[in-house]
Amino acid sequence: MEETLARQVAARGLPGGSDAVLYHRAIARLEGLMAVYDDGSTPQLLMTTYDYLGLQGHPLLNARAKEAIDAFGTGGHCTGAAAGMFVAHRRLEERLAAWLGQEDAILFPSGYQANLSAPQALAGAGDWVFSDSLNHASIVDGCHLARARGAQLRVFGHNDIADLRRQLALAPSEVTKLVICDAVFSADGDLLRLADVDDACRRYGAVLLLDEAHSFAALGPHGRGIYDHFALRPTCALLTMATLSKTLASVGGFLAGPGAVIASLRGAARGYVFSAALPAPAVAAAHAALDLLETEGEQRRGDLSGNISYFLHRARAAGIPLPADCRSGVLPVLIGDERRALETADHCRRHGVMVVPFVWPVCARGAARLRVNVTARHTRLDIDTAVARIAAALEATAP
Ligand code: PMP
Repeated sequence: MEETLARQVAARGLPGGSDAVLYHRAIARLEGLMAVYDDGSTPQLLMTTYDYLGLQGHPLLNARAKEAIDAFGTGGHCTGAAAGMFVAHRRLEERLAAWLGQEDAILFPSGYQANLSAPQALAGAGDWVFSDSLNHASIVDGCHLARARGAQLRVFGHNDIADLRRQLALAPSEVTKLVICDAVFSADGDLLRLADVDDACRRYGAVLLLDEAHSFAALGPHGRGIYDHFALRPTCALLTMATLSKTLASVGGFLAGPGAVIASLRGAARGYVFSAALPAPAVAAAHAALDLLETEGEQRRGDLSGNISYFLHRARAAGIPLPADCRSGVLPVLIGDERRALETADHCRRHGVMVVPFVWPVCARGAARLRVNVTARHTRLDIDTAVARIAAALEATAP
């Protein structure tokens, strides 16, 4: 029975399941961007980390996290809705909201739970939810929860504004319309057509829920995300979701928006009501990251965008296939064939470079790719090394 169940479960998951050498190798030690393993295998240069501005392990973040442990302990001892919220949580919520020019914010144990909770809490029976076809899996799961509560779910073509408008026009005028989009799409690394989406939401009276997981604090001249990047101001009703686990080198997620909506989410968002609050050290580290970015953000974002440009220049010169529109730290090497993507990543790993193969169900069948992340902390030598290894791996695995 166990074997049958295990086989059935594995068939629904990532290829290789629990044996996957690439996914489940535990890192014994991080030395900067080098991952060192216990088994004596080749250390890996991490070309797959969401630490876009290089804050992981920063002394200020570490010191504040340790102070928080001394003051409050290690655990998220209770749900935020009960007694789990310390003053530090509230200060961070206020700070995140202010960062985005929103009235208030609510913290979740993870970005996944923020996205899982938002559609379910914001859209009920008879309401309409519109989701881009390439949105992150956490949004997809959240939309299914909204649908289970009687909301109409409409998936529109990726960045296809004509399709979004067409589907918005079908919704009755009196129902809540919730449009959900990634700001930076997590598999393709392309940016949302923000001006058009904002305009469509305003015209049809829809609320835009924007997932800024890969853009919060990393994108835009002031690190305020995708509106900042495009030098736009919201003209529609806007809620922002982002995670603390990427640029802020911590863990957790949040939703920011109008005060009354955030207040109502404290009673309705199931990922908040039914899950333990973030531990205080995670809260303190994220807050310290924001403090640090007030003074160092511009420099670090400049380093990040310089490294993205350098990677693109070197990778294109080496014949590595990348999408035409790459402007974020999410850089997909387009391969197509799933087996080849796995082999290419394995080849890179054996030669000391860690890139992640994205295959179904992470992306569509036949659209396999290597996920490369460039950060502010990579050196030019790191990038040269990664490009050389990826190019060699593509050559070695060519059909
Ligand atoms: N949204 C997007 C676009 C993501 O890429 C991710 C994580 N990769 C999440 C949400 C979930 O965030 P977390 O890891 O904090 O749960």
